Amino acid sequence: MDDKTETKPKAGAIIVPVTLFEQNCTILWHEPTKKAVVIDPGGDVPKIQAAIRETGVSVEKIWLTHGHIDHVGGAAELRDALKVPIEGPHVADKHLLDNVVSSGARFGMSGVRDFAPDRWLEEGDQVSIGELTFEILHCPGHSPGSVVFFNKELRFAHVGDVLFNGSVGRTDLPGGSHETLITSIKEKLLPLGDDVGFICGHGAGSSIGQERMTNPFITGEL
Ligand SMILES: [Zn+2]
Ligand SMILES: [Zn+2]
Repeated sequence: MDDKTETKPKAGAIIVPVTLFEQNCTILWHEPTKKAVVIDPGGDVPKIQAAIRETGVSVEKIWLTHGHIDHVGGAAELRDALKVPIEGPHVADKHLLDNVVSSGARFGMSGVRDFAPDRWLEEGDQVSIGELTFEILHCPGHSPGSVVFFNKELRFAHVGDVLFNGSVGRTDLPGGSHETLITSIKEKLLPLGDDVGFICGHGAGSSIGQERMTNPFITGEL
């Protein structure tokens, strides 16, 4: 019989699609302690709360990748319900968080609120959940205050709407810049390493290596 050491997973995650934009609200947790973070609660808060209950985790924080309505529409409501702090995005997205109600009105999202996070995040900051520590990368382009959460040990990143499986974030919204976005991806994300897997704000996740080799926005085909 093999004398194998059992390796237990350090972390777990589930995705709860929310809003009419099918945004990937992500519940991520440190497995040994079940301490969890909700990333981008864009709306449908009762659905998020049901997923938290089903998962059996204990949510201690809310993290925001950027200020667009589909990512932040439920943040203030969830903060009140769970009594946990909101961390992120970068302060360059303050104008978006100051106008959640008016953005929501454009998409028929009622019950949303303007709010400020408990902590703005900057390049080089660290945030943690349980014993998991994530580094903050400021990646403007899709929005001025977009941030990416990177865990070196897990070889995992949550990239919000900066990078997608086969695509990149749209840059036609106020404050967007395609050139800035591509620079963010090339200078901040590609150096993380090909083996880094990621969850993004919409659709299926991918890895840095797969995108470096096949994403037309990175290979230069587009
Ligand atoms: Zn966005
Ligand atoms: Zn989005």
